[in-house]
Amino acid sequence: MNDKKTILCVDTGVDDALAITYALASPELDLIGITVSYGMAPVEQTYSNTKQLVRSLGSNIPVYMGSADPLVKERIYGGNFHGPKGMGNAVIEDVSDEGRPEEAIDFIIESIRQYGADLQIITTGPLTDLAKVMTRYPEAIGILDSVVCMGGAAITPGNCSIYAEANVWIDPHAAKICLESGLRMVMVGLDVTRKTLLTQKDLDVWKAYDTKAARIVSDAVDFYLAAYQKFHPYLAGCALHDPLAVGVAFNRNFVKTVPFNLTVITEGEAMGRMTEDLNRMNEVPTAEVALEVKSREFMEDFYAKVNQILRTCEDGV
Ligand code: CA
Repeated sequence: MNDKKTILCVDTGVDDALAITYALASPELDLIGITVSYGMAPVEQTYSNTKQLVRSLGSNIPVYMGSADPLVKERIYGGNFHGPKGMGNAVIEDVSDEGRPEEAIDFIIESIRQYGADLQIITTGPLTDLAKVMTRYPEAIGILDSVVCMGGAAITPGNCSIYAEANVWIDPHAAKICLESGLRMVMVGLDVTRKTLLTQKDLDVWKAYDTKAARIVSDAVDFYLAAYQKFHPYLAGCALHDPLAVGVAFNRNFVKTVPFNLTVITEGEAMGRMTEDLNRMNEVPTAEVALEVKSREFMEDFYAKVNQILRTCEDGV
């Protein structure tokens, strides 16, 4: 149980869609808003993906549009795994005119001012918006409770290069700002998320449900699962990267972490590598890196809640 107010920052994204669904189905999380940046697709698309999914789940949680580009690096998208529009085969209506560019950053800053230490943030996309918050409102570092971040690969190979996990690789400069800022960050990276898998059998359960949300999620996951079977056949499923960060936000016992001060390499072959900050070795660590996961406990909770909401939700449009 976690009584913190929570903001979920996404870049939807198939596994973001699962993370949103899981978050909305978890009474342990007091979700006050969802922010959406570019990431798995351009921001107009990721915003529309998020808003339409949230509505189909019958929720009226506010959705705020975030950044359109990384801080420094050229923009890339996640087409191989998430499809050109970020949601696999799901058909999504364009509702991007309902959002205002970078309103997400104002919303996060206002929420930190309002809730202070009673606020936590979960990120499942690039850290661009959070880095902008840290730059514009550095006092947040001493106020905000914590950030649970799906990102990084500490002792396992990356998924964008042998060094880099996607969320860090897409905007390494933003990740570096956040990790060096002194924010309390719990890094839920590939070391643990690759041990939480969704299989064809799990997807077939959702395909049998007769709700709009179940159709959107199933059509998205269909593409994602096929991509995993093509690129990572040895895994026998697709990883629940983003949902695990949501789980850890209300139940830290899903993972075992080790404390570190972290930084990110922003140039050269190892660009996007999250690694120990050797300049802060003697300082009290501000980050925790998840290195072990109770996969079965997490997946039991995930499927129980997600199956229930996908089976029973009513489209809110
Ligand atoms: Ca994501």
